[in-house]
Amino acid sequence: MSYDYVICGGGTAGCIVARRLAENPNVTVCLIEAGPSDEGNDDVANIRKWASLLGTELDYKYSIEKQLYGSSDIIHNRAKVLGGCSSINVAIAFIPPANDLDQWEQLGAQGWNSKATRKYYNKVFEKVNLQTVPPLNPLNQAFIDSCTAVNIPQIEMNSDAFVNEFSDCCGYFQLNVSGLNRCSSSRSYLHPISSLPSNLTILTNTTTTKLIIDQESMIVTGVLTNTNENIKVMKECILSSGAFDTPKLLLLSGIGPVHHLQQMNIPCILNLEGVGSNLMDHPECVIIWESNYPLPDPVIQRWETALFFKTQTYSTKPDLMFHFGIEAYDIENNLFGYPSEKHAFSIAFNVNKAKSRGHVQLRSNNYLDPPQIDCRYLTDEQNHDKAVMIAGLKLARKIIEQTPLQKWTKCELSPGVQIQTDEEIWDYCRKATTTLFHPAGTCKMGNVDNDNMAVVNSQLKVKGIKNLRIADTSIFPTMISVNPCITCMMIGEKCADMIKQD
Ligand SMILES: Cc1cc2nc3c(=O)[nH]c(=O)nc-3n(C[C@H](O)[C@H](O)[C@H](O)COP(=O)(O)OP(=O)(O)OC[C@H]3O[C@@H](n4cnc5c(N)ncnc54)[C@H](O)[C@@H]3O)c2cc1C
Repeated sequence: MSYDYVICGGGTAGCIVARRLAENPNVTVCLIEAGPSDEGNDDVANIRKWASLLGTELDYKYSIEKQLYGSSDIIHNRAKVLGGCSSINVAIAFIPPANDLDQWEQLGAQGWNSKATRKYYNKVFEKVNLQTVPPLNPLNQAFIDSCTAVNIPQIEMNSDAFVNEFSDCCGYFQLNVSGLNRCSSSRSYLHPISSLPSNLTILTNTTTTKLIIDQESMIVTGVLTNTNENIKVMKECILSSGAFDTPKLLLLSGIGPVHHLQQMNIPCILNLEGVGSNLMDHPECVIIWESNYPLPDPVIQRWETALFFKTQTYSTKPDLMFHFGIEAYDIENNLFGYPSEKHAFSIAFNVNKAKSRGHVQLRSNNYLDPPQIDCRYLTDEQNHDKAVMIAGLKLARKIIEQTPLQKWTKCELSPGVQIQTDEEIWDYCRKATTTLFHPAGTCKMGNVDNDNMAVVNSQLKVKGIKNLRIADTSIFPTMISVNPCITCMMIGEKCADMIKQD
């Protein structure tokens, strides 16, 4: 039970770190995953079944604190299975616009700009197949045609023009799939597990409960698990437990804001103010219409087209994103009694660079307790998120009024045409806003010497601990304008490369 590298969390980034480190036959690697293996699970493999996995034993189903704005009934679905959220997600695949990653570097994450990270995206694409949704579904095409009717041009997502110029556009998604099989990080990097090199050990159904830290040297010497095994760390420990569970693990180990650790009766080993702060996401709301016709079959997974648009004069880039869905996306709206129909379609609109920030804390010092999550959506003082949401709903209606989509539209189901003024729209958004499942930033990367809230430096090393790194979405310094899974994979590749170089 002693390994050179121990990775806590076999999720989107963790699988990649583990597999890449094990390429060196002279080191031993242990990947600890709380959930089961995904191998042989056809419901995980088949991208069309993603929604059926939510709420099952493969999902942590985190509830959130009571919210000022947005629904308090949100369930934050988080995967508990090898491959992490890449095993249950919708597989929408993006390289972020250049300005998003350039901003990371400007904020102190040296070597993380768009140009420097591209080689790691390319390494991901050596393993992970991307497929562009073909224009075969007439409802998708009606959405695209309605966007172009209001002068929002169609673009190839992830093309150089998309990444480098990033302006108002619409288009078909790229998905990380091969046919209908998802290309998650476990399927792309670990399967078949029986063929993995012998220096890589995978412990599934094993939860890391605490890091063991030598306080004199400030070195992680091991990790404790719920199976009461003490796994020794010979070289480095890497946390990849995701934006909620990585800060939870640090806090349980005595690393975090001293006042919160005191409240939880946890001895403080390292006072790191930023652990659990800076929680970001893509807050999302939805508008749903009943269809005039039976819904045509999706090409792959029902969410196949998108739009980006700059709604605020002060924004320099698109601040709004749409996902167009060939289904009624009514999980939240059903709770509020809005009508639902079998043949209905949706525009889910999100603030793609939301300014609101929430936080993650512990409920107690017992690892069995889920983290306490306070999203604080739409609460930014500048009212940016509110303004984008209101503009989003109005733009969705403008697009639906265009002839190609108008032909498909029987009536608006939610919020309903009676909701017209900005105040009425805001009332709806503050009631029904939910998550696009993209929490990030709770152990942000930055210049740890002059940014008090930065938890890891550009090498992903936790400030103050000699051999502890983080590789997952918790290190995002700021939100990217697009879906984050592929960027999380890129973090896994870059983390492994930095460790190898050390
Ligand atoms: C329903 C849904 C749909 C989504 N759709 C998309 C999409 O289409 N495109 C996109 O880009 N993004 C999407 N996302 C978001 C994206 O999948 C995530 O942002 C990303 O995968 C997170 O990766 P991660 O490595 O940070 O964490 P995860 O992939 O969540 O990995 C964390 C892993 O750590 C394990 N773990 C946690 N605690 C412990 C512990 N104490 N000990 C051991 N193991 C532990 C977990 O079981 C999990 O396997 C979606 C997310 C969800 C939930």
